[in-house]
Amino acid sequence: MKSTMQDVPLTVSSILRHVATNHAGRQVITYGGAEPARTTTYGPLEERCGQLANALRRAGVGDDDRVATLLWNNQEHLEAYAAVPAMGAVLHTLNLRLSASQLSFIANHAEDRVIITDSSLVPLLAPVLPGLSTVRVVFVAGGGEVSALEGNGVEIIRYEDALAAESPAFPWAEPDERSAAAICYTSGTTGDPKGVVYSHRSMFLHSMAACTGNALAVEEGDRVLPVVPMFHASAWGLPYAALMAGADLLLPDRFLQAAPLADMIQTHRPTKAGAVPTIWNDLLQFGSSHPDVDLSSISLVACGGAAVPQSLIEGFADRFGVPIIQAWGMTETSPLAAVSRPPAGVAPESDMTYRKRQGRAICGVEMRLTDEAGMPVPRDDRSVGELEVRGPWITGGYYNMDEDSDKFRDGWLRTGDVGHISPDGYLTLTDRTKDVIKSGGEWVSSVELENTIMGHPQVAEAAVIAIPHERWQETALAVVVRTHGSDVTADQLGQWFLENCPAEIPRWWIPKNWAFVDQVPRTSVGKFDKRALRAQHADGDLVVVPN
Ligand code: AMP
Repeated sequence: MKSTMQDVPLTVSSILRHVATNHAGRQVITYGGAEPARTTTYGPLEERCGQLANALRRAGVGDDDRVATLLWNNQEHLEAYAAVPAMGAVLHTLNLRLSASQLSFIANHAEDRVIITDSSLVPLLAPVLPGLSTVRVVFVAGGGEVSALEGNGVEIIRYEDALAAESPAFPWAEPDERSAAAICYTSGTTGDPKGVVYSHRSMFLHSMAACTGNALAVEEGDRVLPVVPMFHASAWGLPYAALMAGADLLLPDRFLQAAPLADMIQTHRPTKAGAVPTIWNDLLQFGSSHPDVDLSSISLVACGGAAVPQSLIEGFADRFGVPIIQAWGMTETSPLAAVSRPPAGVAPESDMTYRKRQGRAICGVEMRLTDEAGMPVPRDDRSVGELEVRGPWITGGYYNMDEDSDKFRDGWLRTGDVGHISPDGYLTLTDRTKDVIKSGGEWVSSVELENTIMGHPQVAEAAVIAIPHERWQETALAVVVRTHGSDVTADQLGQWFLENCPAEIPRWWIPKNWAFVDQVPRTSVGKFDKRALRAQHADGDLVVVPN
């Protein structure tokens, strides 16, 4: 029997039309640092989106053409987020922390036709532009110098001039919901980056899921602060979720350090915010030496992209009175797939047993674990396996790549993450397959070790990697950043770990090798770069202090 329901496509265009029609007065604020913030509302924003779409048409952008952005989290980026898919073209967010060679690989692979950038990023784009074979036009927002881009046979147009020349009216497209809306490349820590192509339908469903109460519960009364970059995995879908809900958006532009973030939060009072743990950790350290810092407007901090240390969740609650909710996902999963809200009715003293986990699947996403032979692993919270996922906003392949048979199994995405799942559905990750430490034939969880070490009051950051061991093949090396002014020693840390060893960590896991550094290297999306750490160690850059 066929249903009687209308078959209206789920599209980004419909999200844009919705917000402009129903929430026209809600605000979009771009923080300006020492300069005043820029504020607009969704009504005028939709008109600017119309002007942008007309300008892109004039620049030759047709259906399916890729329009790249090389931008901070700001109003222009949001305009591109809305206008490009809504006109029927494909938004391609370029990661501004990538090397020149990775940027040109990605832009050429995606065959970008236009790039929208900001004059503050001209020095980054200028050396890359001559090697971009498909780019015809660059729009530059901001008033800074652009001459370094000239002379490459590419038309350089000031963003505001392009918009000023156009009408705000644009007949928004009604594309097939399964067609491409945006493309984002994985951060490529192993091999070349791979393109994940989001559809209108996957974007729509993912945004709707983000707004649900079991996920991030974004609603009109919210003021959403995506600190997580809009150049990576759609900033966890927060911009589209805010558009869908009609919530205010607060965009941090390039001001991502703790001091300006604290100022932005105090001045503009966001209610929900999202970023990787390193950002919140910086803010917590800053807050411990600046008693005036007040983040109390925030009712939910979404944190993920890397394991969230329990000490960070506790520190945020104690210092700021702000709850951190952990989420798990990846570029390939749009990215929100699991969120760790404790189950209904759980006693406050058991809350943390859930919050420190990666989370429970959002409805629409299915999770399973498999062993090395591909056989199912039980959900008993003990048996460890590789996480596989499937769902309407999980990718089924990569753009213009031969089937990557390693990454998919019977329609499921193999995530490369390793962990266990409890009978009530909560995922706990213990490692990435490529980061696991195998000591004497047994798995050692770097994530659990890091989590514990970061609970030491004089540890600002800790990353644990495998180093070769004569007898056990591999053993754990803990690389630690001490808090400002601390001279805590490896012996003291080892002793403290022994005294505070959580029940789930066997004592033989406790690291015997410690190294102290000023900063743990980060990937282009702000996570601990364990590959770089391993390489540094191989080069003898780290001082290993045997316990
Ligand atoms: P990316 O595609 O760059 O966003 O990276 C995705 C990867 O980040 C996942 O496969 C995980 O390894 C890691 N990740 C994301 N969220 C979490 C989390 N809450 N805890 C631990 N690792 C995470």
